[in-house]
Amino acid sequence: MLRAESPYRAAHIQPRLIAWFTMVHILALAGLVHLVQMLVAGFYASTLATLTLATTLFFLRHLSITVGAHRYYSHRSFKVSNPFVEYVMVTLFTGCFQHDVLFWGAKHRDHHRFSDKLGDPYSVKDGAGHAHTWWIFYDIPVKPGTAPDLEVNPVVQWQRRHYLKIAIAVAFVVPTALAALWSDALGGFLVAGWLCLAVQYHATWCINSVAHLWGERRYGHPTARSLPMLGIPTVGESTAHDRHHKWPRDYRILPGSIWDIGQWAILLGAKLGVFYDLKTFSDPAD
Ligand SMILES: [Zn+2]
Ligand SMILES: [Zn+2]
Repeated sequence: MLRAESPYRAAHIQPRLIAWFTMVHILALAGLVHLVQMLVAGFYASTLATLTLATTLFFLRHLSITVGAHRYYSHRSFKVSNPFVEYVMVTLFTGCFQHDVLFWGAKHRDHHRFSDKLGDPYSVKDGAGHAHTWWIFYDIPVKPGTAPDLEVNPVVQWQRRHYLKIAIAVAFVVPTALAALWSDALGGFLVAGWLCLAVQYHATWCINSVAHLWGERRYGHPTARSLPMLGIPTVGESTAHDRHHKWPRDYRILPGSIWDIGQWAILLGAKLGVFYDLKTFSDPAD
């Protein structure tokens, strides 16, 4: 339930966004039906290949959210030595259909800046449903000046110019073309495309809802929690979301945690020389 003073009460729900997310879920369901049909028909090898493709794309793209949109663009928790790496991260991130980096980063910075106050775009204080999904349906634009560094970033500007083309290519064209190699183009489209996208949405949204409702409270935030069991589908973001609210610029969600896959990906990037100046903070509760 939205709070009485919530700015979302005066905002209008966008029918095109409701239509989009309804379509995502219907086609994701079609993906599940396709999987069952393939198994019933005995196409085990191609079903396994399509599922492997979907899982690989899911984790690669989810890393682009947690390492790219979140820890790099939203929090500047490390630096990137080569702009080519930024283009790779942004291209993969665009395939998640989660708006552009400016929108994602600005809203996320507000989530930290106003945490659970009225300026927080997806606070659980406005209801679990609002924090998980409903807030997106309003499409309240980013106020100019909220994220000035992202507004002028050339890679972000490139993404904004070519958003739809990149998103369709990464989310649907690539998986369909790859799965066609083992004669399951429809599986590539429905399973590695739409089903993967739907799972990706819910995994991302769980951080704003589930990780603010359930789990241990160790770092003093009023709603954020530590929930390691959600670490795999969120590539580590839920591991200690309350710690992340305390130290948002730390490149680690929880130092040394095996669940924080994003942390190990950033460390690997540092070993390869593409990431540097990794920010760390220490806390007695670690
Ligand atoms: Zn949060
Ligand atoms: Zn954050």
